[in-house]
Amino acid sequence: MSNPETPDSEGAPPTGDMSPEEFRRFGHELIDWIANYFEHIEELPVLAQIQPGDLKAQLPASPPERGESMATILADIDKLIVPALTHWSHPSFFAYFATSTSAPGIFGELLSAAFDVKSMLWRTSPASTELEELSLDWLRQMMGLDAGFSGFIYDTASVSSMHAIAAAREGVEMRIREEGMSGRTDLPLLRVYASEQAHSSIDKGIITLGLGQRSLRKIPTDSEFRMDPEALAEAIDEDQRNGMLPFCVVATVGTTSTSSIDPVPAIVPICEKHVMWLHVDAAYAGSAAVVPELRHVLAGCERADSLVLNPHKWLFTPFDLSVLYCRHLDLLRRAFSLVPEYLRTPEQEKVRSGSDYGVQLGRRFRALKLWMIIRYFGHEGLAARIREHCRLAKLFAAWIERSKDWEVMAPVPFALVCFRACPPIEAETEAERAGKLDTLNEAIMHGVNATGKAFLSHTKLNDRLTLRLSIGNIRTTEKHVRQVWELLDEQLRLLS
Ligand code: PLP
Repeated sequence: MSNPETPDSEGAPPTGDMSPEEFRRFGHELIDWIANYFEHIEELPVLAQIQPGDLKAQLPASPPERGESMATILADIDKLIVPALTHWSHPSFFAYFATSTSAPGIFGELLSAAFDVKSMLWRTSPASTELEELSLDWLRQMMGLDAGFSGFIYDTASVSSMHAIAAAREGVEMRIREEGMSGRTDLPLLRVYASEQAHSSIDKGIITLGLGQRSLRKIPTDSEFRMDPEALAEAIDEDQRNGMLPFCVVATVGTTSTSSIDPVPAIVPICEKHVMWLHVDAAYAGSAAVVPELRHVLAGCERADSLVLNPHKWLFTPFDLSVLYCRHLDLLRRAFSLVPEYLRTPEQEKVRSGSDYGVQLGRRFRALKLWMIIRYFGHEGLAARIREHCRLAKLFAAWIERSKDWEVMAPVPFALVCFRACPPIEAETEAERAGKLDTLNEAIMHGVNATGKAFLSHTKLNDRLTLRLSIGNIRTTEKHVRQVWELLDEQLRLLS
């Protein structure tokens, strides 16, 4: 970026914003910088190679008294900020759920920052309100969901699921909105059910809503990490016999550890029998339904009450953008709508206002980037990219299966492979062998990550440390998957 020795301004003007000339100049420069960043990103280490505190130690502890020049600030991005980044946009980022920004998404964010609308009432942001309804309806169609689902954008799946459970709770007609839950003797223990593999965001949603952790009952899973529907039915019956009020089941399509798919078609009749709300957490895998031959992963979801998916995970949308599809927006509205006089508008009965459906008043114009992404790539383009990620994951799994020193630890329905090294190991007992294998696999993962050439993460399956390779970046190709496979094998040879 610009040479800090020759700043073209002495810093911020005493009043008002940056001049249009300066904005234009640095704006062009910044776009060039981002284009270069993507062109050369593979030269950077994926995982930040710094120690805790390193960045803060290089920055002043107190704020500047006078404005600094933009050139000086941008120079610090290169010098200080980039080395302190873990590069989620790197094609060899395979950790957690690999995600991806994209050029149309970046442009959408840029424009959204310029417009800076607060999407709370229709009149404060007609474009945001209507584009949100339209783009979520497009996404719904691409996923093959029926028109009974209306979409709403939140920041994250954690928040989407929390709102879904709040709507479900509103549906039990116990006047919780008005009277709360504490100090009441007329309220039974409300119960929510999710599998042992459900994401921790469900626990946090329950905590946030004041239901308490004992309201969440974890249901065991089968050998492929899917919720056991018989165990679910038994748990609900037992709780009812004990005077509790089961009101919501959370099924997961694409669990975090293994991307397993709960048997939604078998869970639906259980929910219907007990008149319970079915929320589907498809935060990761919901996007896969835009691929026509993968739509079946949402089987049964046509009878769910709500479903969350995260375009910021696997639809090339810069963080953050999570979508909640819900069949009962009226309940969501009843749980959260509150219109003080200063927010009353003449059109309020005819339009949808974002602030009626959640905790937040002002909301970002997130729909813009999603609308731009869907238009730029088209349904076919989005499907092609997700399909390719799934192909690469299956290819990697096939290499693992062919090697006698490695094993696949879970089915691969999407673009996540759970695996580990399992070379012959000398040990007196099975427990000792298991411990040594865990230690070896952890060392392999840290060894690969320390090279800076790839970044993997782990989980525990049946108490065994398991490595995870998640493919979700728009830049990831077969070359990158082959490279991480070679790195893994190299570490195994070094360490065993
Ligand atoms: N649900 C599942 C299945 C996830 O894998 C994750 C995150 O990885 C979440 C929910 C939480 O997502 P967010 O970060 O958008 O809250």
